[in-house]
Amino acid sequence: MPMPLGRHMPLESRPLRALQTAREIGCEAIQIFVSSPRVWAPPREDAKETAALAEALRAFSPVVIHAAYLINCASARSEIREKSIRLLRWTLERGATIGASDVVFHIGSHGGDGMATGVARLGEALRIIREDLPPGPRLLLENDVGAGNTIGSDFTAMAQVLAEARGAWGDRIGVCIDTAHLWGAGFDIGTPAAARATLDRIDAAFGLAQVRVIHLNDTVTTLGGHRDLHARLGEGIIGLEGLRALLTDARLAHACVILETPIKLRADSDEHDWEDDRQRVAFARDLTNPTEKSGL
Ligand SMILES: [Zn+2]
Ligand SMILES: [Zn+2]
Repeated sequence: MPMPLGRHMPLESRPLRALQTAREIGCEAIQIFVSSPRVWAPPREDAKETAALAEALRAFSPVVIHAAYLINCASARSEIREKSIRLLRWTLERGATIGASDVVFHIGSHGGDGMATGVARLGEALRIIREDLPPGPRLLLENDVGAGNTIGSDFTAMAQVLAEARGAWGDRIGVCIDTAHLWGAGFDIGTPAAARATLDRIDAAFGLAQVRVIHLNDTVTTLGGHRDLHARLGEGIIGLEGLRALLTDARLAHACVILETPIKLRADSDEHDWEDDRQRVAFARDLTNPTEKSGL
């Protein structure tokens, strides 16, 4: 079974049109925002629009939601933790309503209070969110570039959070691995051997079986630069053969692949160049195929 592959799709003001475009450029899987990523308040919900969105999303499998960037369940400030818990819980409930399979969120930062305190706060937040949570999507912890006091570049800390949450969440908790974030955090995936060694480290920490989504991005930041700068495949500095080795590793064969690369703009207007993106989706699909050898 080939891995389902798609991209993060900006829905903007015309979500149904955007989903149609996603199908036209070859997305089987999809990732979307369901609330503005830099705003705490969830959007106003309209039952008719929600039903139409859920119907249009049935064309994709899996359907992944990326939670708002503001969420930080490990924050030193209790007000931020409470807002994060509320918004993440709302996102999971919204995901259930529209038939999403996974909600990806950023694990957050401990604000200088140390990894153990951050892990404890995150564990507490996950306990609260899980209470009376109706059936719905899985919750996935996304690794990050390890800037400042973030928790998501420390596989041991992630393993602790997962182990603690396992009892209440069961199979509804897992991991999203972002290739640009691995690189930014200093985990080399630039060659097949390096990619396999990095996967070995993740496997030893919490098991690659827990990885449900791979965010497939190249980057222009230096290895271990702790910066998050996504680049289109073939336009960054991670070697394509390293990415191919990661994507074709049998231990990740159960995961889906989501591109979060910047969409090119057309030369003659400020509109997205979907023909360019269609070719890049096809190129990414080639990368998931161990026997394919193609170039952009
Ligand atoms: Zn993310
Ligand atoms: Zn990502």
